[in-house]
Amino acid sequence: FTTLHRSFVEQAERRPDKVLFELPGGRRIRYDETARTVRRIAARLVADGVRPGDRVAAQVEKSPEAIALYLATLRVGGVYLPLNTAYTDAEMAYFLDDARPGVLVRSPRRTAGSAHREGAGPVVETLGTEGDGTLLEGHGSPEHEEVFDASADDPAAILYTSGTTGRSKGAMLSHGNLASNCRALLDAWQFTSDDVLIHALPVFHVHGLFVAANMVLAAGASMHYLPGFDTEAVLDLLPRATVLMGVPTFYTRMLASERLTPEVCASVRLFVSGSAPLRASDHQAFEARTGHSVLERYGMTETGMNTTNPYEGGPRKPGTVGRPLPGVEVRVVDRESGKALPDGGTGGIEVRGPNVFTGYWQMPEKTAAEFRADGFFITGDLGRVDEDGYLCIVGRDKDLVISGGYNVYPKEIETLLDAHPAVLESAVVGVEHPDFGETVVAVVVPAAGRRPDPAELLEFIAGDLARYKHPRAVRVVAELPRNVMGKVQKAELRKRFGGLFT
Ligand code: ATP
Ligand code: MG
Repeated sequence: FTTLHRSFVEQAERRPDKVLFELPGGRRIRYDETARTVRRIAARLVADGVRPGDRVAAQVEKSPEAIALYLATLRVGGVYLPLNTAYTDAEMAYFLDDARPGVLVRSPRRTAGSAHREGAGPVVETLGTEGDGTLLEGHGSPEHEEVFDASADDPAAILYTSGTTGRSKGAMLSHGNLASNCRALLDAWQFTSDDVLIHALPVFHVHGLFVAANMVLAAGASMHYLPGFDTEAVLDLLPRATVLMGVPTFYTRMLASERLTPEVCASVRLFVSGSAPLRASDHQAFEARTGHSVLERYGMTETGMNTTNPYEGGPRKPGTVGRPLPGVEVRVVDRESGKALPDGGTGGIEVRGPNVFTGYWQMPEKTAAEFRADGFFITGDLGRVDEDGYLCIVGRDKDLVISGGYNVYPKEIETLLDAHPAVLESAVVGVEHPDFGETVVAVVVPAAGRRPDPAELLEFIAGDLARYKHPRAVRVVAELPRNVMGKVQKAELRKRFGGLFT
């Protein structure tokens, strides 16, 4: 059994001179240099008292050293716990109290001074974006040579969910979870040491850390490592890259630039999208503009990646998230009874496989409630499998609208609204209604320079929808409420428009 850390060490031994990170400004960091940073940080963690199973929390800006900190934690058998840099001190208090890490690494901007322990709390270290901070202090600092002999079931990380539907939960992921999912993705997308990835995602989330970074590290590939997504910077780098992994807004924003042409994409072999639904219209527009069909995949903090559109051997279908990865089982069940639905039925999506997490940190009841007796995990997403075996996500269980006893899946209405030229994007929610229990409200954001007319929008979509699915109100807003991961917060919209009919 090979852990992610071991895969990285093997790559660093095989190709020490190879560039792992290329930073904006041109600075390059090789595999052997990163391996040394990993050993130095590992020594520091051990000196701070980290023992196998201890949590190492990190709320640091994106930097090459942040990846080294992750690898160092695995090297010493610690449990890596990255936290969103946008969290406030009050939010941090919740996570620290919940996770009780032995070490907390923060940005030097947030915590001044030398490494210290606050009362009974964690040892606090700092790490900046230039390799500055207490964690890497001291020249000639010792290197930790041993490697913790992890087994597949040992915990490797606790990753908090994005908090789109409520308070974030800590998902415990094992070394086996990370390694198996990474291997499945390397195969599925034919990712090799020849690849050069544009990495513009945050590294405290499953997408940027356990998909993008893990794949580069395990394959011995290189990455253009950006602090965040910047349209111009990404377009500048595309001619020197083979793969881009992004969230849907990357594609929306690139499409808004005249610089997006087939020529600029000539060296790229794969564009991946995930973490939130990619609008079918964006998928089509991107293909029309560049000749590239974006590959959409589906995953979550608790499971890593579950399904993917094909790299080859089949079409990449807009509005779908493809088929299960090898080793992953996906089924669609009746929301209430949990019984498998006949082919094509819409219901709850459940998954089982080596990628599925071991449980929510310190939430045994919640964990038990989200697993079936046969080991399937209840994702909380709703979907159906189409005639080609591709999964289509139609929304989250918590966002399902039940109007007059009928299920209304928001995605169906959103897709129709998004197709109107005056609409940039839309979100459909259910709000309380005296006759129907709930009724449908559509919230739309205008396309640039347009002023959508609610009556006209309703007429535009009505012909394609049964009457009970017709929105009873259309509201135009400047932008949709999003959480720190950029995901639309429907609970916020339900609050805002909840009183429309009562
Ligand atoms: P929380 O669980 O705290 O409410 P979250 O579910 O948004 O937050 P993540 O684990 O970051 O936290 O996100 C996983 C979810 O993102 C999935 O359950 C699914 O709803 C959505 N998602 C991921 N990829 C896609 C995709 N390609 N299409 C549609 N939805 C997607
Ligand atoms: Mg979730």
